[in-house]
Amino acid sequence: MSWDVVIVGGGSAGCVMAGRLSEDPARRVLLIEAGRDVKPGEEGAAILDMYPGRAAFDPANHWPGLQARFQPVGHNDPVRPPARTYEQARLLGGGSSINGQVANRGTPGDYDEWAEAGAAGWGWADVLPYFIRLENDLGRDGPLHGKAGPIPIHRIPREKWPGFSHAVEQALAGAGFADIDDQNGRFEDGYFPQTLSNDGTSRVSTAMGYVGAAVRNRPNLRIMAERQVRGLLLEGNAVRGVEVQGDAGPERIEAGTVVLSAGAIGSPAILLRAGIGPAAALRDLGIPVVADRPGVGANLQEHPGISLSAFLAPHARLRGTTRRHIHLGLRYSSAVPGCSVSDMYMMAAAKSAWHPLGERIGSLLAWINKPYSRGRVVLQGTDPMQPPIAEFNHLADPRDAERLVEAVRFMAGLMTTAALSSQIEASGPASYSGFARALGRQTVRNYLLTAPVAKLLDWMPALRAPFFQRFVSRGATLEALLQDQDGLEAYVRGSVFGQWHPCGTCRIGDPADRDAVVDPSGRVLGVDGLRVADASVMPVIPRANLNVPTIMLAEKLAATLAQDLGGRARTAASFTSRPQPGPVGSTSSPSSITGAEL
Ligand code: FAD
Repeated sequence: MSWDVVIVGGGSAGCVMAGRLSEDPARRVLLIEAGRDVKPGEEGAAILDMYPGRAAFDPANHWPGLQARFQPVGHNDPVRPPARTYEQARLLGGGSSINGQVANRGTPGDYDEWAEAGAAGWGWADVLPYFIRLENDLGRDGPLHGKAGPIPIHRIPREKWPGFSHAVEQALAGAGFADIDDQNGRFEDGYFPQTLSNDGTSRVSTAMGYVGAAVRNRPNLRIMAERQVRGLLLEGNAVRGVEVQGDAGPERIEAGTVVLSAGAIGSPAILLRAGIGPAAALRDLGIPVVADRPGVGANLQEHPGISLSAFLAPHARLRGTTRRHIHLGLRYSSAVPGCSVSDMYMMAAAKSAWHPLGERIGSLLAWINKPYSRGRVVLQGTDPMQPPIAEFNHLADPRDAERLVEAVRFMAGLMTTAALSSQIEASGPASYSGFARALGRQTVRNYLLTAPVAKLLDWMPALRAPFFQRFVSRGATLEALLQDQDGLEAYVRGSVFGQWHPCGTCRIGDPADRDAVVDPSGRVLGVDGLRVADASVMPVIPRANLNVPTIMLAEKLAATLAQDLGGRARTAASFTSRPQPGPVGSTSSPSSITGAEL
């Protein structure tokens, strides 16, 4: 026996692939996840919580040592921008187990743009059935919404919103924005109650929705957690399986088809280490070239963002009606020439961290929905256990810098409206600093550090504004920034951060396009037996948080793969007479795991 399909990475996409592909009892499917399993009923309070900050900022859920450079890396410039921790999930469910639960489809134009970029069969009319298939929209009906999918879509009712969220809504209405009510069904600009991937009580990840208890009972599916894939087993240009890091050393696993669902940073790294990527860069690292695909690792996109924070008056804060801290969002269009409609997004958060201080600080967070800057995922060496580095190149395109500067002015204007100024006692710039990250971990120490300060500020209102300015805005004031265009741009360039939405690094395209990495069925161009299904295949970042678009594309790629495999699944058994090569660059002699252990 051997595996028909091995899926590398049990994240948002990988769990969908495993759940859907194992529906055919004749197909043997193995899902390999580097992080821990998240078994049904054992998710724990932090993952289930509708307030996502505890799971999102727990380092135990992240890839250790993963770093990114946000600012552009100059050619031949010895002064490189600082590399900072970049959180990516490492547990079953991947991003969907720890993310902010915002469930956003983007707009029809996003997917029509994919088709125009060479992703034939990925226009809006093609992808809509998969958006419908994945969801059970608990609040909206009609032909655009699904009612039977594994992921519930929920909106927090307005009566549960705190004063801050109501005030932001009033400020947006006062500024002339329309209430579009359903962000996943009406695609013009306007504000809306934020759609969430939860059932009104708890998060629903793809681990919960697609590989729950009933699916795990299937005898043809196995989930192998806490096993990192080191590389691909290659025979010429054909992939025959994977090598995993086992307890006692490397182990071989054979497969008819390997699907990489290791995420937009993990999947290109596996391809590059296997010699599938830009030939010159591979040769520089001493990696033999299997397929010269310049697009592997390139085309990296994110949603560059910036935030302003505010010390909330007591009546503006969450009052226990809901654990959820983000209740509404806004899609809007910048006035910057050459940019598309709905090119900007903004959310209002009525709490900035789990701790008592975080409960008193709200934020407006804006990001560029349609950025033009592109970055790259780069290997730091050939060691398969060493993470690559993501170089985002944020704001390299002047249109991106201009829009984020304008976003600060826009949010500052909202903060000074009558609706909002009655809810806040101080406001100013804020960034996701190392200090905020450290304080964001749920520890007794952090509670003991923040609780007395929060109480002191409650007792002594006069301290709130100076505290906010000193410790949140770090001495910077909005007034000064708004009067100095150059200073404001410098501030934005120094503070820009992503939304944990990397994508594009193994993009779908026309097979004749040298920069495409996979064809519209997810097959890696120039290599047999290998597909990619995760956020890396997106040709262009959609106007959306990426979890729901990633689930959609995994649904579609799983359906295509199931159809291609048909009843006559291509199994590793058909390769039994071949030699047993190790992964490219491997000198080890791995032991073997096969489907016989199922
Ligand atoms: P992932 O879900 O990251 O899955 C990749 C999986 O592969 C991981 O589990 C990883 O451990 C595993 N893996 C990687 N390499 C290997 C290897 N070599 N061997 C074995 N396993 C491997 N999106 C939204 O829509 N809404 C939000 O509110 C939102 N908030 C976010 C907040 C945070 C903190 C983060 C991190 C993400 C957020 N996102 C959000 C983004 C969204 O969750 C991701 O875009 C989505 O999960 C990507 O899915 P994926 O399958 O491509 O990758």
